[in-house]
Amino acid sequence: MTDPAPADLSAIVKAYDVRGDATTQLTPDVAHALGAAFADFLRSSADGVDMIVAHDMRVSSPDLARAFIDGAVRRGATVADAGLSSTDQLYCASGLHRAAGGMITASHNPAKDNGLKLCLPGARPISRDTGLAQMRATAEGYLDAGQVPEVPGGTSQELDTLRDYVDTVLGLVPISSGRRLRVVVDAANAMGGHTVPAVFERLDQIDLVPLHFELDGTFPNHPADPLNPENLHDLRAAVLKEGADLGFAFDGDADRCVVLDERGALVPPSAITALIAQREIARVRGAGEDRPAVVANLVSSRHVAETIAASGGEHVRSKVGHSLIKALMAEHSAVFGGEHSAHYYFRDFFHADSGMLAALHVLAALAETEGSLSQLVAAHDPYASSGEINSRVADAELAREAVRAHIETVPGTTSDELDGLTVEHWDPAAPEEDRWWFSLRSSNTEPLLRLNVEAAQQSTMERVRDEILDLIRDQAPGTGVGDEPAHSTPATQTEPSIAPAGASGADVPGWVRERLCCPDCAGSLRDVNGGLQCTSCARTHAVDGGIPVLIAGRTEAPGADQRP
Ligand SMILES: [Zn+2]
Repeated sequence: MTDPAPADLSAIVKAYDVRGDATTQLTPDVAHALGAAFADFLRSSADGVDMIVAHDMRVSSPDLARAFIDGAVRRGATVADAGLSSTDQLYCASGLHRAAGGMITASHNPAKDNGLKLCLPGARPISRDTGLAQMRATAEGYLDAGQVPEVPGGTSQELDTLRDYVDTVLGLVPISSGRRLRVVVDAANAMGGHTVPAVFERLDQIDLVPLHFELDGTFPNHPADPLNPENLHDLRAAVLKEGADLGFAFDGDADRCVVLDERGALVPPSAITALIAQREIARVRGAGEDRPAVVANLVSSRHVAETIAASGGEHVRSKVGHSLIKALMAEHSAVFGGEHSAHYYFRDFFHADSGMLAALHVLAALAETEGSLSQLVAAHDPYASSGEINSRVADAELAREAVRAHIETVPGTTSDELDGLTVEHWDPAAPEEDRWWFSLRSSNTEPLLRLNVEAAQQSTMERVRDEILDLIRDQAPGTGVGDEPAHSTPATQTEPSIAPAGASGADVPGWVRERLCCPDCAGSLRDVNGGLQCTSCARTHAVDGGIPVLIAGRTEAPGADQRP
């Protein structure tokens, strides 16, 4: 209490939420001050001082939730303590009760971290510019003063929000009872273990095979980050062993969901975006809406835009960054928004993102067909994609200039700079091998360029990808790229893309690359940031300095490729 240094929460109060180490940064004292500051902020913004507070299963979460609630009550707030909850469950309660919300969670972060996601009544977002900076200053003031002055009238009581949540999500996505489906869900010992049983219990036609449903904030089985392919091993094995129709993997606070098909192969988030967009557009057009808008970020597959147009919707392109999607959705009153990082937003779910609604859409679509999920998805994954490839460069602007100058010499291209450089060469009248596009964005925090290439044919994608990567590398001979392969940087991302950071399959010499197949299932391989990913079993095989580690994997004893 006699700390001489002024409190500084700048390291944990981010642009859209609060994240930090729960033992050194986001302690109960800090949570108490932030709870008090949130109540003050709500009163000053005329949104009332009613709030719902919930928390995930992290070891530090109950104490932080208690401290946050105590701080808010001390400043006169009326708090509903919702206890254990997924983030989308909290947003749902905020929407239904028109109360502000506070969620104690660090999403997919490691066990030692925790965080705070806040929203205004109706699950409306708060950013640094619209409130978090003000709250931070208030909280720092309370911490410096060593006390929070009491405002009378504050109360707290418990609130059960699970039943309303289940009713809401099932009401939004009815599932026909015609076809029995066997579904494996890996909850990663996180909040999916709380929401999935409650939702699936109401679906008679679903045989649920639960995996890691016991809530345990130490994550005894694997981290709760399904965007890292390593964390999908258990789910893939269970889908194959159980002969399941599909598998779902949820992240720590269960607001994101990744889908595997019946072969255990990852369904790309762009394919899920297209599938849901088609269904949501059809639903609201059936209710009389003319040309409903759908938002997708600009690295989503071209197929997403084509599907939206073909379904009679309006495609709205957004920059990358999931908080930007919500604002654009509100502006265009878009019915749905999707991102390549497996965030799916629903207008009729208070514009909030929900992995559960995405999962229910996939189940509903599958229940309406006779075929397998891989067959259903094939129509939504028609193009060859490079995945996101990160290149460390000395001067990102210089490298981008070189790419821009080169592109100007290629006839038939169009480009824009909504977010980095997007270049398109896709004349539907031209032969297939001439259709490609790419996006080249720079990182805000590191000298990194992020490249995404897509083409109508695999060989075209590889050619364009290698051309652009050569241009980027040439810009920095001996500076910055000498120490490591140019496109093999461990990027630190708060919102990871679907591929893990690491070496890329593109480092492997072409003549070697052509001869490789998956050592586990003999499937064909595609380049991802992190190595080579099997297009059939979705396992990613590391590439180290241009050497594919999967060759060594063949000589290992059976089982040696299992997660340690
Ligand atoms: Zn999450």
